[in-house]
Amino acid sequence: MDPIRERLERLYPLCRSLTGDGVRRTLAILAESVPLTVHAVPSGTPAFDWTLPPEWNARAAWIADAETGERLVDLADHTLHLVSYSTPFHGRISRAELEPHLHSLPEHPDWIPYRTSYYHRDWGFCLTQRQRDALGDGLFDVLVDTTLAPGELVYGELVVPGTSTDEVLISSHVCHPSLVNDNLSGLSVAVELAQRLAEREHRLTYRFLFAPGTVGSLTWLSRNAEVLPRLRHVLVLTGLGGGGPLTYKRTRHGDRPLDRAAMHVVGRREGRVVDYSPYGYDERQFNALGFDLSAGRLTRTPHGEYPEYHTSADDLGFVTDAELRESLTAIEEILEVLEEDRTLRNLAPYGEPQLGRYGLYPTTGGRSADDAVMAMLWLLACSDGATPVLAIAERAGLPFGVLRRAADDLEKAGLLG
Ligand code: ZN
Repeated sequence: MDPIRERLERLYPLCRSLTGDGVRRTLAILAESVPLTVHAVPSGTPAFDWTLPPEWNARAAWIADAETGERLVDLADHTLHLVSYSTPFHGRISRAELEPHLHSLPEHPDWIPYRTSYYHRDWGFCLTQRQRDALGDGLFDVLVDTTLAPGELVYGELVVPGTSTDEVLISSHVCHPSLVNDNLSGLSVAVELAQRLAEREHRLTYRFLFAPGTVGSLTWLSRNAEVLPRLRHVLVLTGLGGGGPLTYKRTRHGDRPLDRAAMHVVGRREGRVVDYSPYGYDERQFNALGFDLSAGRLTRTPHGEYPEYHTSADDLGFVTDAELRESLTAIEEILEVLEEDRTLRNLAPYGEPQLGRYGLYPTTGGRSADDAVMAMLWLLACSDGATPVLAIAERAGLPFGVLRRAADDLEKAGLLG
C-alpha cells in the first residue's frame, strides 16, 4: 500500500480537535516516519490576540432510547457524531429539549456534518438526516463524557536543513477529526515530502509545521520571532485529493517568487490560480500584516466548493492515491523552482554556438529539435544576465525542470555563467 494511504488509514479514526489526545496520537503516528519534535504549550497562554483554550478530551458520547437503552447516535461509531469541544452533559431529556443540540444535512441525508463549538460553550451531536428522522419522540438518555480542563495545546515541528539558512515553511493543520481531504491529505503528503527532502541535497532549509488551525499557527508564530526573518516562502497544504484540478492561492502580495513558481507549475498541470483573500486556512495568519510573510496555499478544489467538504463524505474513498501523488509531484516541482531559479548570462553570445562541439547536440541529425535542445536554444537566446530561467521557461512554453537541466549542461560547458 502507498505509505501516504497507509498513514491516512491509521489517522482517520482518531478524534482530533484543537487540543487533546487525538492530536497527540496523530503527531505520534507522523513521528514514526519523520523525527518530529512535539511542542506543548499550556492552556491559557496568550498568542497575540488569542488565548489558548482549555484542553478538550472526549471519552464517550451517545444518545440512547431511554426505554430500550439502544444507542441511537454514538461517538464510538464516528468521530463526527460529537460537536468538537462539547461541554459535559448527562441527563434524560425530551425530543424538544434534544432538538437544539442536533445537526444534520437534509440535502445529503446519509452524511454526517462536521461542527465545532470552540469558543461558545455548548454540547451537540451531528447525525445523518436519516438517523434524525428515525429518533422518535423520546425520552432520551444523553451522555457527553468530555473534559475541558487546563492542559496543553500540542503541535509538531520538523526541520530538514539545507545548505542555506533561508527557509521554506510547509504548514498543514492537524485539528480535524475523521475528515480525509480537509486535513489528513495535507499531513500525509507533507510527511512524505519531508522524507524525500531528507534523502537529497538542497539549498533551502525546510521547516514543517503540524499545528491546529488558527490558534496553533498563531502559537507557533508567537514563539518563533527569531525564525520569521529567515522565512522566504510559506506553503500551506491541505485538500490535496478529492478530485478537481490543482488550485494555488496566491500570497497577499500576489507576485512573490512562490507565486511565480506555483503559477508556472500549476498552470502547466492545467490547474487554476486564485487570488488572495483573507479567508481560508492558516495562510490568513502567515500573510497578516504584522508578519508579512509570503504565504501561498496549494489544494485541489478549495474548501467550501465541494459538497463533501466538512462532512462524513470526505472519507478515505473520497481521495485517490493518484491525486495525492500528483499533488506531491507538483509541490516538488514548485520547490525545484524555488531552489534552482537563477539569472544567467550567455558567455558566447555572437550567434549560435556549435553545440555538437560541446557534446550537447543529439548526434542523429534530421530529427526536429526535442525539448532539451529547444531549452538550450531558448536559454542561449534569452540569458541576458537579467532574465531568470523561470521567465525563459514560461516564454518557451517548457517545464522549468527541462530548462534547469539544460542550464546546468550549458553552465558546465562554459556557455552560460
Ligand atoms: Zn476544515
